[in-house]
Amino acid sequence: MSQTFNAVKQQEENLLCRSYSRYPLAVARGAGAHLWDVDGRKYVDLLGGLAVTGLGHCNEELCATLERQAHELWHVSNLFYQQNQLDLAEILLSTTHHTKAFFCNSGAEANEAAIKLARRHMRRVKQHNAATIITLNDCFHGRTLATLAATGRDALSDGFTPLPDGFAQVPAGNLEALSSAITPATAAVLVEVVQGEGGVVPLPAEYLRGVQALCRQNGILFLCDEVQAGMCRTGRFWAFQHYGLEPDIISVAKSLANGLPMGAILATDEAAEGFEPGSHATTFGGGALTSAVAAKTVEIMLRDSMADRAAALGERVKKQLEALRRNMPDKIRDVRGLGLMIGIELVENGRKVWEALLRRGYVCNLSHGNILRLLPPLVIEETDLDGFVSTLGQTLQM
Ligand SMILES: *Cc1c(COP(=O)(O)O)cnc(C)c1O
Repeated sequence: MSQTFNAVKQQEENLLCRSYSRYPLAVARGAGAHLWDVDGRKYVDLLGGLAVTGLGHCNEELCATLERQAHELWHVSNLFYQQNQLDLAEILLSTTHHTKAFFCNSGAEANEAAIKLARRHMRRVKQHNAATIITLNDCFHGRTLATLAATGRDALSDGFTPLPDGFAQVPAGNLEALSSAITPATAAVLVEVVQGEGGVVPLPAEYLRGVQALCRQNGILFLCDEVQAGMCRTGRFWAFQHYGLEPDIISVAKSLANGLPMGAILATDEAAEGFEPGSHATTFGGGALTSAVAAKTVEIMLRDSMADRAAALGERVKKQLEALRRNMPDKIRDVRGLGLMIGIELVENGRKVWEALLRRGYVCNLSHGNILRLLPPLVIEETDLDGFVSTLGQTLQM
């Protein structure tokens, strides 16, 4: 490690709460799907800031929008009407069957809003006192206390209990288990179409359709967490659109403003009736600056057909990875995912492989100890993906 890097590392240890275990990389600059560290070394970014920089680092058009808006208006709060927020709502809602938006600042906050809206909808619109939210094993919905309860993983809530009541969890993929878990106290079922933090696990189409059908039969709400899988990542604008689903509420964040903190829920008119003035709010949500950048992000994604690009690039790299797996079945157990949300499950612990990839200039994520997770900017070029696949092959051969 260089002296420059070690100085940064030392400073971090001195100044910040110890809540992260960080990669041995101090990033100085980014452009498109590339990063440069403090020593000037270049990397291919296959992580995209955790599925956030969909249009790449320092996208020129977004920089221009940011700069223009920075001289116009940053923030006034939701006490005021703001055209930027309406422009964003209009273009974002044009991508889906939903008709109402609520803006906030993160994925967890979007899920909090979805949970609150579902509960209030049941009580105030359906006149039925139901509050329980059912989630699936291996899901991830955030780190606030309620979304930790929804996530239901003991390791993540260690030391933080008590968590809020009103959550239940069932095994993913099992409709009978879900059916028997639904009671008169159930308000909604919340799912990820592709479980991201759970190890990039796409849920089967038939199962997802079955979940929606059970929600309809029982008069409860069907919620999709699109925080990671949404915004063109999986090859459709929204992951639920692969299967013709019509969730009542979706939560959105990560790529929404390409790196500025922003979240949202999108809801049908009927579901949205659960809120009334004063029932839910946030100070920063939908501010002029973030809204302007988010609206431009959505505009570019639609104009440049980023969903199709993600589908084509994803298909291509998955084929190559599949060929690699056939050549090295003793090294790679499974290749899965949708679009540019890809998981490569290794047979053995992948720490050494992940480190070697980083040394050779490829940044990706390692989860569960043996799953390499790829969430690259959707603007990544084929040559960079090809380079990753061949470098992975060489690394696994060692
Ligand atoms: C990242 C993520 C969240 C949490 O988002 P934050 O912005 O970190 O609060 C929630 N749900 C899913 C599916 C995610 O991937």
